[in-house]
Amino acid sequence: MKKNKVSIIEKTLNSISNRKRAPVAGFFALLILYFVATFLTSSLAGAQGSIKIVGSSVQVYAFAGVFAALANICIIFMVLFYGKLGFRIAMIALCIQIPMISMGIFVRKNLSSLSGLFTDIFTIIAIILLQKNNERMDRYQEKLRDQAINDMLTQLPNRFACSELVNDLIKRGEKFTAVSIDINHFKSINDSIGFNAGNAVLIEIASRWKTIADSGLSGTLDFITRLSGDEFALIIRDYRSDEDIIKTIRQYESALSNRVTIDDCDLYITASFGYAEFPTDADNLNSLFSYSDAAMSESKRLNSSDHIMRFTPDLLKAGRSLEIERKIRAALEDDTIYFNLQPQFDLEHKLRGFEALARMKDSDGNNISPGEFIPIAEKVGLVDKIDGTVFRKSAEFFGTLLKKSPAPDVILSVNVSVRHLMKNDFLDEMREIVRTSGVPASQLEVEITESIMIDSAEKALECILELKRMGMKIAIDDFGTGYSSLSYLNKFPADLLKIDKSFIDKMNANESSKKYVAAIISIGHIMNFDVISEGVEQPEQLETLREIGCDFIQGYIWGRPLSPDDAEAVYMGAV
Ligand code: C2E
Ligand code: CA
Ligand code: CA
Repeated sequence: MKKNKVSIIEKTLNSISNRKRAPVAGFFALLILYFVATFLTSSLAGAQGSIKIVGSSVQVYAFAGVFAALANICIIFMVLFYGKLGFRIAMIALCIQIPMISMGIFVRKNLSSLSGLFTDIFTIIAIILLQKNNERMDRYQEKLRDQAINDMLTQLPNRFACSELVNDLIKRGEKFTAVSIDINHFKSINDSIGFNAGNAVLIEIASRWKTIADSGLSGTLDFITRLSGDEFALIIRDYRSDEDIIKTIRQYESALSNRVTIDDCDLYITASFGYAEFPTDADNLNSLFSYSDAAMSESKRLNSSDHIMRFTPDLLKAGRSLEIERKIRAALEDDTIYFNLQPQFDLEHKLRGFEALARMKDSDGNNISPGEFIPIAEKVGLVDKIDGTVFRKSAEFFGTLLKKSPAPDVILSVNVSVRHLMKNDFLDEMREIVRTSGVPASQLEVEITESIMIDSAEKALECILELKRMGMKIAIDDFGTGYSSLSYLNKFPADLLKIDKSFIDKMNANESSKKYVAAIISIGHIMNFDVISEGVEQPEQLETLREIGCDFIQGYIWGRPLSPDDAEAVYMGAV
């Protein structure tokens, strides 16, 4: 499919190092010269008489040797400059001559042709050797060309081939999109299963992507290359809209949804994709790739479930995080941080409770995603204030709900960052909020992410034990994204395990992903935890979770994060 366009890529790559062929006209000139020289040789060989050259008389037949030598030189030039074709024609010409000369010797008993026969045979040997040498050089050149444009590990085209193609497209003014791709957490794959296994992962991923690019299944014209390490680049052409670009990138993303098994280890790989378009976003190679890289890094940094991001000039604003930090400080000062409540349900659709999620707007009234401002708040030490504000405001609101219509089973969950947990006055702050909000501690739950618990085990554990003593519940958030061991989980006094959305996303892609989620649920149950699945969006996911015994769900399918008023309506409808 799309052979004509594919051949442009091939031509671009071929032009990088193919040796220049001599002009075709030269070939015909040599051929004609050869026939003329051969004709003159045979005509002059038997000629009588002599001519005078600078006073001496020379026999005419002596010139036959001169033309024979000229014919041989034509033959050698043909092989030298015209490769296989030259060699074949030369062989045919020489081989036709042998019976003709032999006839002269054996039938007409003309022994003067004996030297011609030997010259013919020696020339054949010479051009066979010459041709062998040519082939050896061709193979060597082919190898050099492969090394220059292919990545040795994955056999994908390399950075050089990629820039050649991109420069060519830019020169021709053809619209295309450059996608920067980076494998998520590749370093931990290398660290945990070793360098060779890491290489095997790259080879497997490259082969899956190459299959898509070669098959043309994406509907666009794609060119996938490996730039270095776990960095890849995809060039997409022949599309109509941004949707087409995203559709194509999703194909490459979903090629990773099947696990990669290396040395009996099952690995679940994801990648981050950032893209920029020529000429809309940038008009030269360097800017284009630095923009697609910026979008890719941003998508990685946000760590959201959508791993694809288009470049926007916003990303270039130096000090974007400084700006966000300023906004967080202003929002804390003006007390404009607010919360949404996302409902959680059991599988019978009975309300379990709500998770309070922080919300912040910038001065234009646009929402800034917590995926963006929470990590910055963590870095600059403001997250405890955000956590505290969200907890205080949501608990106050939840207290009024309980007063209006008591429901002793409904729970309010809040996110607590480890930086907050580690503060000396953390427990006092919690006690104070419980007291003033009037919410019984048994109806409050603190969510702590799995990776954070492992990093800061001992002190965090002490705080958590104290929260438990106060009567609060503990949830392990984003379960499956960290690397906790079973023995560690076992000593952790959690009540609820929250399975991360990424596992729910790919749960129905194949049987083993489903079994994986089922295994997490079983482990949770063995340890006496309830299990909730996050990010449930589709009825099929709900069906599977019901089938494998999940206790609760939280997701757009039954409830997005809601304003307090909307959450109140859900609450009143349920109690
Ligand atoms: P999280 O704790 O894992 O929260 C769940 C996130 O998944 C929320 O994103 C929620 O809106 C989103 N979500 C829930 N169901 C679905 C679904 O079906 N589909 C999709 N696509 N998304 C769904 P949100 O509100 O953007 O929060 C992002 C993260 O920010 C949270 O992830 C949490 O780690 C952090 N965060 C939010 N509020 C706070 C807070 O008050 N304190 C702290 N420390 N972190 C917070
Ligand atoms: Ca959470
Ligand atoms: Ca979560």
